[in-house]
Amino acid sequence: MRILITEDETKTGEYLRQGLSEAGFAVELARNGRDGQHLAMTETYDLIILDVMLPQVDGWSILRSLRDAGHQVPVLLLTARGDVDDRVKGLELGADDYLVKPFAFAELLARVRTLLRRATAPVAETRLVVADLELDLMRRRVTRAGRRLSLTAKEFNLLELFMRHQGEVLTRSLIASLVWDMNFNSDSNIIDVAIRRLRAKIDDDFEPKLIQTLRGMGYLLDVPNKV
Ligand code: CA
Repeated sequence: MRILITEDETKTGEYLRQGLSEAGFAVELARNGRDGQHLAMTETYDLIILDVMLPQVDGWSILRSLRDAGHQVPVLLLTARGDVDDRVKGLELGADDYLVKPFAFAELLARVRTLLRRATAPVAETRLVVADLELDLMRRRVTRAGRRLSLTAKEFNLLELFMRHQGEVLTRSLIASLVWDMNFNSDSNIIDVAIRRLRAKIDDDFEPKLIQTLRGMGYLLDVPNKV
């Protein structure tokens, strides 16, 4: 695992380099912002530890240029200040974690290991697809046949439930408890009304129809008669 440290304070830089090397990492140390930025943009690292206050090019700029260029490498920011604004700014710019100086080396090492573990973990599912229907969980967007559909929050949650359970019959009471967080009352037609509205949006103008009614049982979403 390769780690880049960009730190202008000699003592801190050497201390980090030595500690991380002893922990088994291949470490490079840049002593100013310009070198740090150059290495970060041209070499491949598994993690970058970035001091915010640097001569020439500061940590914010390095972080911004990395993210602007589409580099997803985990970045741990180091700062002398515990300022909430700094923390927010760092996270907004795409930092993955934040450590306020002075810190114990054990704390840094724990953060480094967590970031590396997170980076190598499988990516969480962000898109659900059934036939030409697509649900983007990150952007909360739904399209069918490439056409953007406008759903309410409840309709979105309902559709997500159906798509996560493609081909499974969902009873009204299950839908009520998972989407409305309530017990199903058979006098209420709230579920049927919501599904009718959802159908109008995702099925009315398209073929095949994906939401199917199983009388007396519930609903399911699937591609009909699929082989
Ligand atoms: Ca500094």
